[in-house]
Amino acid sequence: QCAAVCPTGAITVKQDVDEVHAALNDPSKTVVVQVAPAVRVALGELFGLGDDSHVMGRAVAALRRLGFDKVFDTAFAADLTIMEEGAEFLSRRAKGEKLPLFTSCCPAWVQFMEQEYAAELPHLSSCRSPQQMFGSLAKDTLPKELGIDRKDLVVVSIMPCTAKKSEARRPEFGVEGNPDVDYVITTQELGRMIQNAGLALGELEPEGMDMPFGFKTGGGIIFGNSGGVTEAVIRNVVGVLGEGPILEQVRSTKGRRTAVLDLPGGEVRIAVVHGLANARALMEDVRAGREHYDFVEVMACPGGCSGGAGQPVALDSRTRQRRADSLRRLDASMDLRVSKDNSLVTQAYKDHLGEPNSPEAHRLLHTHYSIRRRIQGEGIALTEAGGARIP
Ligand code: SF4
Repeated sequence: QCAAVCPTGAITVKQDVDEVHAALNDPSKTVVVQVAPAVRVALGELFGLGDDSHVMGRAVAALRRLGFDKVFDTAFAADLTIMEEGAEFLSRRAKGEKLPLFTSCCPAWVQFMEQEYAAELPHLSSCRSPQQMFGSLAKDTLPKELGIDRKDLVVVSIMPCTAKKSEARRPEFGVEGNPDVDYVITTQELGRMIQNAGLALGELEPEGMDMPFGFKTGGGIIFGNSGGVTEAVIRNVVGVLGEGPILEQVRSTKGRRTAVLDLPGGEVRIAVVHGLANARALMEDVRAGREHYDFVEVMACPGGCSGGAGQPVALDSRTRQRRADSLRRLDASMDLRVSKDNSLVTQAYKDHLGEPNSPEAHRLLHTHYSIRRRIQGEGIALTEAGGARIP
């Protein structure tokens, strides 16, 4: 589990449940919640619901009964992430610079890079994670639409992950001390909130999410699995859906898997790793020039977020596999499976963001990284903006 290897210190996690209850009981606050993809395939385990495909709908009903004003989907922001990260990758490839591009949606991996591989920080995607893209967009747009002050909008996340609590508290993710994501609750904590409220999850009628941020494609859903980000990018960039040797390689459960994608302009060498030990081995290979990749997905937890440290404890690999299979089934059941087909993401670009990688998209959806610990002998310095400068 991530908690055992997590370098973020997130194991001493902040408990946000009391603050969330206080916000829900405060009539001056509008409280919205986003639910991460991996939560829906594990929450049911706490209620003996196993593979119930309606867990997400029942969880929406439970969240409304707990008092949340709007229930949204982090998978919407995952679709947005694919739009931004895909555009960023193609732009870097066209310029022939800063490749490989490393994904940045796992905060434990981001912090690991900041601490251990600062020289490679310019290679990290500047995209915020889906959790933070959601928070930023929600806090920028919803107050205007609802006619309230930003400070009266409370954004809560339900995450499979303890490191997401630290990520939400990073000072760069907020405006004048008001964070983009106020509180982060794990899957386990949500389960306890539902139980303590006396709600029987299995008996609730499934309900739909709120719009616009409740709309998603299968590409956003599979973010919860290791390899899911890569598969969603491949779908978006080349339109490959279904089966095939490349996707089989990307979906395998090996600690590191590689694939080569033929694109106009040449091959794209892809690597997918899960677990920080596998990430370290890959980084050493890249540093030493033993391997060359163009796109690298890293998730700190074995199996990706479906095996995150905020999920119900899964001591066996079969549970992780069952969750991964459930996410795939949910993806296969979606009418839309390619992120660029998300019409409400398209609308968000029209109304707020311009186009992928535009200045406004950068303001709301991208970030910069900082070196957390100077590495001896690397000759790396911080720039004024806090980014890495490599002499
Ligand atoms: Fe969190 Fe997912 Fe990263 Fe694990 S893999 S630390 S659950 S973001």
